[in-house]
Amino acid sequence: MREARELPPRTEVVALADELAVAASRALVGDTGRGAELDELAARLRTRAYRLDRVEADAAEAIERWRSVERATTGEASCAASVARVRLAAEVSRDATHAWRDAYLAEKRCADTAAKTELDRVMRELDPWRPASTVVRLLDAEAAPPAPPAPPDPADDVDVAPDASAATSAVRVVGIEPYGSADRARIVVTLSGATTFEVGREGANPLDAKGRAAKGARLIVTLDRTSLAQARVLPVGGLVERVRAEARGRSTRIVIELASTAWRRVFYLPEPFRVVVDVASHPPAQLTVPAGHARPLRRVALDPGHGGNDPGAIGPTGLREKDVTLDIAHRAAPVLAHELGILTLLTRDDDRYVALDERTARANAFHADLFVSIHCNASENAAARGVMTFVLDTSRDEIASRVAARENAASLAAGAQVTSLLPRLRLGEVGALSSHLAELLQRTSTASLAGRYADTPDQGVKTAGFFVLVGAEMPSVLYETSFISHPGEEARLATAEYRQKLADAVVNAIRAYREGR
Ligand SMILES: [Zn+2]
Repeated sequence: MREARELPPRTEVVALADELAVAASRALVGDTGRGAELDELAARLRTRAYRLDRVEADAAEAIERWRSVERATTGEASCAASVARVRLAAEVSRDATHAWRDAYLAEKRCADTAAKTELDRVMRELDPWRPASTVVRLLDAEAAPPAPPAPPDPADDVDVAPDASAATSAVRVVGIEPYGSADRARIVVTLSGATTFEVGREGANPLDAKGRAAKGARLIVTLDRTSLAQARVLPVGGLVERVRAEARGRSTRIVIELASTAWRRVFYLPEPFRVVVDVASHPPAQLTVPAGHARPLRRVALDPGHGGNDPGAIGPTGLREKDVTLDIAHRAAPVLAHELGILTLLTRDDDRYVALDERTARANAFHADLFVSIHCNASENAAARGVMTFVLDTSRDEIASRVAARENAASLAAGAQVTSLLPRLRLGEVGALSSHLAELLQRTSTASLAGRYADTPDQGVKTAGFFVLVGAEMPSVLYETSFISHPGEEARLATAEYRQKLADAVVNAIRAYREGR
């Protein structure tokens, strides 16, 4: 319980933080040390504001201020600012994959400082969001000092995209195509190979409280280690006034000048590697779902994760995720059919490998009204435990680069499939209903595990770019039942009773969804 006390209104705190930031930017010109001090105060204020009200714009601004401190200082001071920034980024849980990347790069940079221990701790917490090894190698290339290109090793992950070796040679910007209208625009930048990129903004217009870029703002996508043959200015018209491309050191900046307030989403598509920037004057998804009306629900697809030569995660005593997920699905399916009268498809009915895109293709062909993918969580942090449910992130930046490595690893080659699947993504209602189903699943899990298993933490609903959810045309969730890597939860997952409770949670969530709750 927090003591009841008069707190200053958020607007006052924000105004003070902005004054400090302005003073910092002036001081940085002449007195770097003083500027960094003021920026640090602004960062601390904004961090406090974020922790009180959870307004993401406060966290975003605090992160920007910490970055400024990192640039203005060196050694221990710079790394202490990195710790503060990375820890805050990790708290904004919707950006967990991005936070992992930031923590990883900071840890490399601060390997010889006192900050390393704390960065190690943040990395352990974020471990479930460690991206695929190919992405980690891209980050390594980004962090490494410039070196002569090494001869490529042809035996190294030949069938895995994106091609990490391309990051060490120059990637060329092959084309920039803007498509615009009054209320939306898409800019597609085609590259000769894969690279990492940063999304930022420029000018005095911060993101507003809803995370939108304000009118007159410039969205900037920086493509790391790329070459551009010549600077270009492309007039667009409508929501985007024009797009500029310019070389900046060893990278290329794509500057998108907005005519009015806009929502944005930046992601990549493989083969050929393209960075896509979507901006729209309306939010991509309505996040409210009307309750109280029964929803027609006749068919459900249950997707037991992994199978065959892909065992999924393996517990400390050898319990295999693929066996647990299949058993939970086998317990839930007959109840859905007999008690709720719902036609149920299992994407696999026995111990066999089914590609991720094949799973959703089966659900789509079955005309399923819901898709529930069942998994066990795993973390290098043996203390991590609890139940969480993921929905596909369709509204934030870098949806495709949020590679949730562990669940996607079996089908990284299927990354290419995402190209053909993305256009079928139905935003809006499907996304909102997915989030709603995920909330219901967390609630029914807590209810089902009450009593004997009441100590199981409710880890809530998270968003990530799981390939298995990308292709689903219906509301879809990925249910991480418990941590198989936690010795206690592994022991529970091995029992029929605990699996039955989890199956009951799935059934009860689907029932609640149908009843319009
Ligand atoms: Zn899994």
